[in-house]
Amino acid sequence: MIRAIYPGSFDPVTLGHLDIIKRASRTVDKLIVGVLNNGGKHPLFTIDERVDMLKEVTRDIPNVKIMSFSGLLVDFARQTESTVIVRGLRAISDFDYELQMAQTNRKMNPEVDTMFLATSLEYAYLSSTTVKEVAFFDGDIREFVPNQVVESVQRKVREKKAAYLRNT
Ligand code: ADP
Repeated sequence: MIRAIYPGSFDPVTLGHLDIIKRASRTVDKLIVGVLNNGGKHPLFTIDERVDMLKEVTRDIPNVKIMSFSGLLVDFARQTESTVIVRGLRAISDFDYELQMAQTNRKMNPEVDTMFLATSLEYAYLSSTTVKEVAFFDGDIREFVPNQVVESVQRKVREKKAAYLRNT
């Protein structure tokens, strides 16, 4: 029984993330998508909103479970009895950081290995940050995020913009 964690911020989930989730879920028995509750970053969506969006877009994949976590990924791996960490690689620019993280995590918990999935070509350019920028300037994000998420992103960005304008 191989249990894996796919960790990330998912702020918001993109088609690139969903592609990795679908492909990883075919390779392992159980895939836990771990949504990082990291106070350091200033996410657009709350942790509960990110978890709910992921649940919605993965509801048809039976071996995928969505959970939030804080603290060290290796501790979350221990708690969930996971032996694999899944990460997506888009470009060489991801590589340095990902290699460093994988080696650090392995040092802290030798029972866990990191597996990298190369992004599908059509999503190689895609990141949550790009999606937020395009949405902020009223661009079309339908090719970037799952259908169920489009309106939530547009609404959230509108709210943020309104709050920003009120405060300036
Ligand atoms: P983090 O803050 O941990 O980088 P992200 O939500 O940005 O969280 O990304 C989570 C994981 O998904 C990372 O491994 C990242 O490389 C991968 N990922 C993000 N976008 C894509 C994409 N378009 N194709 C493949 N993997 C991706």
